[in-house]
Amino acid sequence: MKRILLVDDSRTVRSVCRDMLASHDMEIVEAENGAIALEIVRSQPPFDSVLLDWNMPVMNGITFLETLMKEPLEKRPVVIMCSTENDMAHITQAIKAGASEYIMKPFDESVLEDKLHGTGVL
Ligand SMILES: [Mg+2]
Repeated sequence: MKRILLVDDSRTVRSVCRDMLASHDMEIVEAENGAIALEIVRSQPPFDSVLLDWNMPVMNGITFLETLMKEPLEKRPVVIMCSTENDMAHITQAIKAGASEYIMKPFDESVLEDKLHGTGVL
């Protein structure tokens, strides 16, 4: 079963994402900031994908991503950045840091499924 980590400080966004993925046979784990997400990827590996918000308290998405890429993980999850920051500078920064895809918020189920298919997660 595929395992996805939803990282977003908005409980509503996490819940909406969970609903979008409900028709797929996957385990979904949630984290409300990058620091908690990092603990989870270290203590409960492996994850196939991380859906990652940018703006979060404690540790934001880009810091999480940069840290994740340096982690000695056996399997590195595919990171899909999901953000309201939709200018080219943010997108480029995320891709350079190791994100495989970038989704602009708000997004719907078909966009999310497209990106998950495109990156081989689904
Ligand atoms: Mg946020």
